[in-house]
Amino acid sequence: MKYLLLATAALTSTLAFAAEPQFDMKRVSEDIRVMSADDFQGRAPATVGETKTVAFLIEKMKAAGLEPGGSIGTDGKRGWTQDVPLRMSDIVGKPSLSLSYGGKSHALNQGKEIAVRAALTGQDSVTLKDAPLLFVGYGIKAPERGWDDFKGQDVKGKILVVLINDPDFEGPEGKFGGKAMTYYGRWTYKYEEAARQGAAGVLIVHETAPASYGWATVASSNPNTMFDIVRDDPKAAHTPFESWIQRDVAVDLFKASGLDFEKLRAEARKDSFQPVPLKATLSADYKVKTEVITSKNVMGRITGTKYPDETVAYTAHWDHIGVGEPDANGDNIFNGALDNASGISTLLELGRAFKAAGPAERSVLFLAVTAEEKGLLGSTYYASNPVYPLGKTVGVINMDGTIGPGPAKDFTISGTAKLGLLDMLIEEGKKVGRSYTPDPRVEAGGFFRSDHFPMAKVGVPAISFGGGIDLVNGGVAAGKAWRDAYIKDKYHQPDDEWSPDWNLDGAKLDMGLLYSLGRRLANGRDWPNWSQDSEFRAARDVSAAERK
Ligand SMILES: [Zn+2]
Repeated sequence: MKYLLLATAALTSTLAFAAEPQFDMKRVSEDIRVMSADDFQGRAPATVGETKTVAFLIEKMKAAGLEPGGSIGTDGKRGWTQDVPLRMSDIVGKPSLSLSYGGKSHALNQGKEIAVRAALTGQDSVTLKDAPLLFVGYGIKAPERGWDDFKGQDVKGKILVVLINDPDFEGPEGKFGGKAMTYYGRWTYKYEEAARQGAAGVLIVHETAPASYGWATVASSNPNTMFDIVRDDPKAAHTPFESWIQRDVAVDLFKASGLDFEKLRAEARKDSFQPVPLKATLSADYKVKTEVITSKNVMGRITGTKYPDETVAYTAHWDHIGVGEPDANGDNIFNGALDNASGISTLLELGRAFKAAGPAERSVLFLAVTAEEKGLLGSTYYASNPVYPLGKTVGVINMDGTIGPGPAKDFTISGTAKLGLLDMLIEEGKKVGRSYTPDPRVEAGGFFRSDHFPMAKVGVPAISFGGGIDLVNGGVAAGKAWRDAYIKDKYHQPDDEWSPDWNLDGAKLDMGLLYSLGRRLANGRDWPNWSQDSEFRAARDVSAAERK
């Protein structure tokens, strides 16, 4: 009897061992320490930081027993990386910019009245002479929502004046699902749609609440070096002139045309809105320095035993800001320990756990993408140049910042979306007594700011996991205090550094959850999809036949 009991106990613990992955948090911490040390120089793409990071990732993936998961080389063999060619553009000197209205020319100063970014079209100069301005409301064309701000107007050669966010931002709920920002509200969408319409350029009217950030953010980021993936037809994605203007400038412009900005702004919230020509023109003249660099996505893989061409992907960005302006202590290396050496170390540890558990029926991809900080470019490049078929990519689980203050009762994802993948994550959470807390700032469009998004855009079910706020020790108050302090003192600052004092118990708990979701997908036959009313559903359904 006694022996039998012992045998049962031993069996139970073996089963528990087989089912539960063993995460080594000391190793996770050490990987973060190495990648965020000063000699990695803040891991900017196409720097010594990239060389070191890519070598480190390949070494760790190899040691974990993963297979090379990158592009097939000239030798016919699959390597560990995918080349990501990036266009890099800068405005040379002070751009000459002006608006003409009311019979006068009004100079615009970069960073003050206007924030214009370097052209990403590949051209080496921008010259606009008295280009007419056209107010197009929110600048949205969304046939599935019965919305078209352009109403068939010819916008060729014109500069579009556009509002930020979408028509439902100020309520009541209309065709854009209420206060939560749809992709139609993002500035990136405004630029893309303007290019599709064939406009000459864009002036987005900056307003703090609907943009969710102040003018200072716009003014400081736009004059920087701009990056994009190298595109076959860059003019299909960008107009030569992409910019924001201060709200006051817009108000004056409208006044000079005998129009009331607030009134037209209200008008733009209705689907009956018609574009309004302004009695004003824009002139611009400046040179653009543009070159192409090559960065790398790094990929390890475990081939599936039964459905090798079906892929479950974990993603995280390896890059960070690099070297920048020194802080008060003279530190100019943006180490990016949390953002995102932590996500990468989690990706590696998940790879080890999957390897230890033995192959699953479907393939599992561990994809470390580049240039997230330059505008989600490594993931954007992968989404348009997939190494594995997107139609058979079951789901993408992205991780960005995986270290928190300790175990939380809840978890979240970036932004809001309705998809089966999130439902499954919530189910896995329930099994271990954890609950889902939706992103509280839905109007900020968090869904569109992480590396899962370029995958979502091409239809692949994708989410970015986020740690919880309701701590086992200290509850929501303690969780919020920790997060606020991180954003204030460390986020995108040289002080985002590794610490030997981190409490990694929360990260470990989250890792277990991410593992169980991925393992369930990899050993199941599920094809989670977007909800029927999701803007990403149509892109997914195009490839439905591949999943039969
Ligand atoms: Zn990040």
